[in-house]
Amino acid sequence: MILKNIEFLITQNPSREVLKDIDLRIDGDTVTGIGDLQPDDEEVLKMSGKLVMPGLINAHTHASMALLRGISDNKKLMDWLEEYIFPAEEEMDAEDIRLGAILASTEMLETGTTCFNDMYEKPDKIAEAVEKTGIRAVLSRAVFDWDGDGEKRIQKAKETVRKYGDHPLIRPSIAPHAVYSCKTETLKQVKKYAEKHGVPYHIHVSETRSENQDHLEEHGLTPTEYLEEHGLLDSSTVAAHSTWLTEEDIELLAEKEANVAHNPAANLKLGSGIADIPRLMQAGVNISLGTDGPASNNNFNMFEEMKLTALLHKRKDPEALTPQQVLDMATVNGAKALGMEEEIGSIQEGTKADLLVLDTQDTELKPHYGKQGIISNLVLSHTGHPEKVFVNGEKVVEDGEALGVNKKQVLKKAQRKTEKFVQASENS
Ligand SMILES: [Zn+2]
Repeated sequence: MILKNIEFLITQNPSREVLKDIDLRIDGDTVTGIGDLQPDDEEVLKMSGKLVMPGLINAHTHASMALLRGISDNKKLMDWLEEYIFPAEEEMDAEDIRLGAILASTEMLETGTTCFNDMYEKPDKIAEAVEKTGIRAVLSRAVFDWDGDGEKRIQKAKETVRKYGDHPLIRPSIAPHAVYSCKTETLKQVKKYAEKHGVPYHIHVSETRSENQDHLEEHGLTPTEYLEEHGLLDSSTVAAHSTWLTEEDIELLAEKEANVAHNPAANLKLGSGIADIPRLMQAGVNISLGTDGPASNNNFNMFEEMKLTALLHKRKDPEALTPQQVLDMATVNGAKALGMEEEIGSIQEGTKADLLVLDTQDTELKPHYGKQGIISNLVLSHTGHPEKVFVNGEKVVEDGEALGVNKKQVLKKAQRKTEKFVQASENS
């Protein structure tokens, strides 16, 4: 297939080229040509007046929590979890996890996300949603062991790694929930497994101030120091949040080449704090971007997350972050965090064809001041509504609508579920 005469191609290649009036060839799941291309008995899509860019990567989320969107909006993290989220999750069965993930994947695709990094229960059900909608995902069975079922969860987490090692849309990861919810032995055991299989080690780190203080009191180390002490920090670590880091923590993350998944909306909503992203970047830490679950966001729109990131870190210094740096977080940096930088996050010969098609005649994209102005419009102006979306070479969104789902039915079912979740939290 050839995408012919693309007005602007945002490549996100190493020199961050924005190409004008250019063609792009997709063979199967892969981008195989960029330039002035002659169609060779293949489908041609006319792209004049269109902008093509890499699909965005949500580096930290819990997709199925889409069903809990808006269940509680005015609580601190621990109260929010204990009074609302945990009781509702107790009621969540396999079908709910599947339905929540379908709702989430639909929203993600329609707002321009083509890959998400998930941590939750029953990943097989989330995999069904991935296959149905055609989105790409990194899936894990969350591991924690505060209730005596740790061993069972570890086995399931390992099973997930074995099962999805060779899937066209799914990569597995290992995801211990956090240092405070897993025993040291558990953290180490699953790390060994992640290393053996070369998969990411996805963990919540220093989300709240009290989490940090409690950990310091109990262990005499910050969560980051503790991870380092036990050999759990390296380039496969995806540290979600990293809101409360000391200067030593930042240096450790940089030295060990660990990745941070920044979740500014969730951190603001739960009053958890603001991660010092400019300082982390200055230290050389790879910063990716995530929405976290939609009960704490309350959506999956990575264009919104980019704008929020840019503005949040400009509050003290308007020169802190450029739009290009923020776009990098949502594309190439996310890919790097997941160990997939050769495949996704940029559009180059040999990368997977995960891309968005936007209309350059959209008011949000005009005018633009040169090529940098286009990037600026994408990060600070566009609100996330691609016309078409391709994942792995397959068209999964057309005219702004996800193709793989009966949306009306999904929305109706999701609405019906609210009753039982509200009851669960009221009874808690
Ligand atoms: Zn999270």
